[in-house]
Amino acid sequence: MSTAILNRLETPQAKQTRRECPICQGTGWEIVQAAGQASMAKPCICRQATKIVRLRNEVGVPARYDRCELEKFQELNPTLQKAREAAARFIERYPRWSSGLFFTGPAGVGKTHLAVAILKEIFPLRGENLRFCDWRALPAVVPGQPDVWRQLADADLLVLDDFGSGPATADRLEAASFLLHARYNARKLTVLTGGPLRWAATFGRGPRRPGNEKPLSHTERFIRQLDPGTRFRLAEMCRIVPVRGEDYRRLFPRTTSLF
Ligand SMILES: [Zn+2]
Repeated sequence: MSTAILNRLETPQAKQTRRECPICQGTGWEIVQAAGQASMAKPCICRQATKIVRLRNEVGVPARYDRCELEKFQELNPTLQKAREAAARFIERYPRWSSGLFFTGPAGVGKTHLAVAILKEIFPLRGENLRFCDWRALPAVVPGQPDVWRQLADADLLVLDDFGSGPATADRLEAASFLLHARYNARKLTVLTGGPLRWAATFGRGPRRPGNEKPLSHTERFIRQLDPGTRFRLAEMCRIVPVRGEDYRRLFPRTTSLF
């Protein structure tokens, strides 16, 4: 991918730049001709660039996830293989309502990679309203400015990345409750990622069993603070897909495609 083309497409003159693509002159097709063979057309590189820029601008996928695609996902252990299969099935069945997905596990094992790959596969197919949202980066709930949360509630497919990270303030808990109920009632699909999650410790009723003092992950802690109705909705609307493994960013510092 040419960074120069990407950068130019991000300017306000994006459309003009596309028309000026030196390879295809804006047709989106590159004509290639091997010696002694008839010429043929193949999709121009600028199409891919346009898609990446639209994913950044319209869906909100951060630039650091530009390269997260399903085919680049490395199945380094059985849980990663299962997680990839779950993502592939989700894409295949979309938009039929079954249930969303909740990729859970330690940092750096590939959860966000899969969530972004889902958005990427679905994005070019239909003109749907897709949104990527980093939970920690969400603004505080300001009375009279509910727009951000309303937009997230209305998205056809929403990825909530690192759900429950950051402080579990009353505002945040209330916003999570609003968002999950609204999306459940409208039968909208949601894909979440989060820290390690044990079902009983997170969704079970009553106090934690004595002897089970393993510290809670930030995601478990956040969900336990939600009201029981919201917890129930969350458990109902998403299938939990546990992912285990090493932090690949530490194992392979040069790898940028696994998150
Ligand atoms: Zn082109």
